[in-house]
Amino acid sequence: MTFDEITQHILACQLCPLASTRTHAVPGEGSQYAEVLFIGEGPGEKEDLQGRPFCGASGKFLDEMLLSINLKREDVYITNVVKCRPPGNRDPLPEEIDTCTKHYLFKQIELINPKVVCFLGRYSMGLFMKGMKISQVHGKAFQKDGRFYIALYHPAVALYNGGMRQELLRDFTVVDKILKGKFIEKVKTQVEVKKEELPSIRKSRTKQITLDI
Ligand code: URA
Repeated sequence: MTFDEITQHILACQLCPLASTRTHAVPGEGSQYAEVLFIGEGPGEKEDLQGRPFCGASGKFLDEMLLSINLKREDVYITNVVKCRPPGNRDPLPEEIDTCTKHYLFKQIELINPKVVCFLGRYSMGLFMKGMKISQVHGKAFQKDGRFYIALYHPAVALYNGGMRQELLRDFTVVDKILKGKFIEKVKTQVEVKKEELPSIRKSRTKQITLDI
């Protein structure tokens, strides 16, 4: 299937109950040849009405962060885990996530074949980095099969906590470094998180976390 065909399938999708409550499905926006792919959670009210990802207040801050590393929307691709708005902005259900990712997100990743995948927020991160906490891994790059994966705080975080703006902007500089081939920090597919950093883990001194990609 081509990228355009996937987009057309998303726009007409009836595979889960979200189809009956959405106004528009939101396939994503940007370049299918992008080096950077951003994955948010799912469309909100504005996105549902306009059929575009991140077109509300958090999208405005996302644009600002992109600009801070000299990127525009057309340079990247922005999409979500689920392509239709869950009613009342509830969390997407596991079966909705499962259907949508299997049919669409994973194929989008394969076809775009980006150098860097950025998870916007813990829901999207949780799909790929099971068992990790965004507060521990945000802004850190992991590498697998030649591709970098970075969890970033959801841009909405900066809207209700202005103090986080700088932290989010700083995390974005990691994307810039990777694109410029200046990323020198050691990246691994497995990280060890010290027990002190994970108070809920009592048995072992360390926890091995695997990228589920
Ligand atoms: N939040 C998301 O996760 N995705 C959007 O498209 C808009 C807001």
